Amino acid sequence: MQVEFLIIGQGISGTWLSYYLQKANKSFLVIDNNRENSASRIAAGIVSPVTGRRIVKTWMIDELLAFLIPAYTELGRELGVNAIEQKSLIDFHPTPQMKIAFNERVKENAEFLFQPEDRQLYYDIFSYDFGFGEVNPCYIVNLKEIIPAWRKILLDNAQLLEEDFEFDNLKNTNKEIHYKNIHAEKIIFCDGMSSAQNPLFKNLPFALNKGEAILIESANIPSSHIFKKGMMLTSIDNGLHWIGSNYLWDFTDDKPSEQFRKQTESLLNNWLKVPFKIVDHNAAIRPANIERRPFVGFHPIDKNMGILNGMGTKGCSLAPFFANQLTEHIVSAKGILPEADIKRFTKILIR
Ligand SMILES: Cc1cc2nc3c(=O)[nH]c(=O)nc-3n(C[C@H](O)[C@H](O)[C@H](O)COP(=O)(O)OP(=O)(O)OC[C@H]3O[C@@H](n4cnc5c(N)ncnc54)[C@H](O)[C@@H]3O)c2cc1C
Repeated sequence: MQVEFLIIGQGISGTWLSYYLQKANKSFLVIDNNRENSASRIAAGIVSPVTGRRIVKTWMIDELLAFLIPAYTELGRELGVNAIEQKSLIDFHPTPQMKIAFNERVKENAEFLFQPEDRQLYYDIFSYDFGFGEVNPCYIVNLKEIIPAWRKILLDNAQLLEEDFEFDNLKNTNKEIHYKNIHAEKIIFCDGMSSAQNPLFKNLPFALNKGEAILIESANIPSSHIFKKGMMLTSIDNGLHWIGSNYLWDFTDDKPSEQFRKQTESLLNNWLKVPFKIVDHNAAIRPANIERRPFVGFHPIDKNMGILNGMGTKGCSLAPFFANQLTEHIVSAKGILPEADIKRFTKILIR
């Protein structure tokens, strides 16, 4: 089989890259092992304009939102799914100090942050002592439907192989990539945490990070907002809600932990006034990195081998934007944003 591009991985990065290459009339084959606990399969899909304990504006959020809202809307229309939904985030202040910090940020006239009037609005559902602020607008990307729907199209078009990719079977003549019976002009790795072991890209400053999420059933939690008190709680389906997450840099496996389950159950017992039942618990490794900026572009020596990775905690907002940049780079040699271009690591990549 002869294609222009071999793409490894169909998480949110591989989904967007294959989508844009399709739009650009490029031929490709995706290899994805359909790993149940990949980051894209267990993420909540939240896009927030602010981030961190200091509630600062998310990197590049204006450009990202301007790009991703129409992009997901169009993708959803093509796939027949509701791909993106706008919601505001109700941030219950966990401590008086956090309340002061939030209100200080509102006084600084921070965009996206509000102090709603009705402090008792959620008293029937949640316990909270220090009031709440609002972050608006936030978005939920419907990963649960987008990824399988795009996968089905790729499978129907014989553009996806469901198997493990093994680097040892890859041969690169520098003119062409050979993998088993597949011949491609270029290969692009969108394989999340696996790239941290890839002989070509493992020197990039990956800082893999484990995160867990729990699914609960509760008929009484409104789906109108994302709620936060230490963790995020968001509705994903009729009466089904996602709660997470933790950020572990020091971990020995990618399995759900008893500790997280206990911690989350205790938080829910203290926070929710309505009944709930835990129905699932998942864990995945985030392809995070030290700089918190994506890894995009082609290897400085093996120029036909590329990467779209390093999405960290923000794959839903970064992946469409940078998959499009990488496609434009391929099609019309347009530059990749220097902060994301792996050119910045040329010295360590040529070692
Ligand atoms: C608990 C948790 C909550 C999160 N919440 C959010 C959120 O709310 N919003 C947000 O924007 N981000 C969130 N994230 C981060 C987000 O999940 C990641 O940024 C994003 O999913 C990374 O996507 P990716 O496609 O680059 O990698 P991945 O999702 O890891 O996808 C890689 C794909 O490659 C496949 N693959 C890997 N190796 C091989 C191989 N050797 N052969 C074949 N196939 C292979 C895998 O099966 C997978 O399908 C969360 C992450 C976690 C863990």
